[in-house]
Amino acid sequence: KLQPLIDKLHENHILSATEYVELLEQRNPEDTEFMRKLAQEEAQKVFGNRIYVRGLIEFSNYCRNDCLYCGIRRSNAKADRYRLTKEEILACCRAGYGFGFRTFVLQSGEDMGFSAETICDIVKSIRTEFPDCAITLSVGERSRESYEAFYRAGAERYLLRHETASEALYEKLHPKELTLANRMRCLRDLKDIGFQVGAGFMVGAPGQTVEHLAQDFLYLAELKPHMIGIGPFIHHQDTPFRDCPDGTLEMTLYCLSILRLMFPNVLLPATTALGTIDPRGRELGVEAGANVIMPSLSPKEVRGKYLLYDGKICTGEEAAECHACLENRMKYIGYQIVTDRGDYPGWTRE
Ligand code: SAM
Repeated sequence: KLQPLIDKLHENHILSATEYVELLEQRNPEDTEFMRKLAQEEAQKVFGNRIYVRGLIEFSNYCRNDCLYCGIRRSNAKADRYRLTKEEILACCRAGYGFGFRTFVLQSGEDMGFSAETICDIVKSIRTEFPDCAITLSVGERSRESYEAFYRAGAERYLLRHETASEALYEKLHPKELTLANRMRCLRDLKDIGFQVGAGFMVGAPGQTVEHLAQDFLYLAELKPHMIGIGPFIHHQDTPFRDCPDGTLEMTLYCLSILRLMFPNVLLPATTALGTIDPRGRELGVEAGANVIMPSLSPKEVRGKYLLYDGKICTGEEAAECHACLENRMKYIGYQIVTDRGDYPGWTRE
């Protein structure tokens, strides 16, 4: 019974808030499969059976923020904090380059121990040694001037999930010094500067309703990001949300398909969190319209310390093992990991 609505989304790439709510509330196995197939076809029209890989380097788990859902929040005294040096980061890039990675994602908590200058210095070193690679930063909220400096230093992509487009829900998920307005300001600045920008949210975040998800879709339609990162919320034992239920595989896959139909060209990862709630989560994500995977390149010694949620997969493995495993998993479902920067179609540096 949702097919007319799904066809409308497929054709117009947008629905109204009430239509999104209906699509979410009335979901059922038959229509889900109908939409999943359309979304997978849509991704294949743009990207074929090619899957882009991004080497994720989790270079610090220090964080000044206290997001209620996150395992590396500042008040989690049990988190075993670490920072990688520039040399260690470069060593991760070298290993990744050898596996065919042409994008490195530098992610951390909001660690002011890494000043804008330090980050620029790291970016410049990667840029010099790997001129054919894309550099993505994911280091949280900073000033416009800092973002401009990152771009000039050679970074060209930035991941900053908006987390939720609802002011009320934002306030429930974050301490009061963090505001949705500043998140949105950051995303605007990043886009203005010329970055390929990734926004996104957690599916099944505590307190999230289908109305909130509809707001997320409408905000994304307005922002037009180049990348969208979504994954299930997964509880962490040392956070205030330790007893909250996790987001589901089913709802996350459903949202991935909606996003693919909204944004045929968007870079859409099947996230580690998705792979954590289900052993075949990432494969199912690709079959629901995702076209990117982001395995960790972080050194084995620190992998088990960058714990945003409980049960995170691949914390005991070497980067090489993860890469081989993912290559096989993708081959098995008829996809191929490619050696490519995997920019947003048509994007060039201004
Ligand atoms: N500090 C940077 C930032 O805020 O953008 C980058 C790191 S932050 C830990 C990356 C993302 O992890 C967040 O945007 C959030 O959506 C996700 N995350 C944090 N805790 C999570 C949890 N418990 N379950 C699922 N995802 C989570």
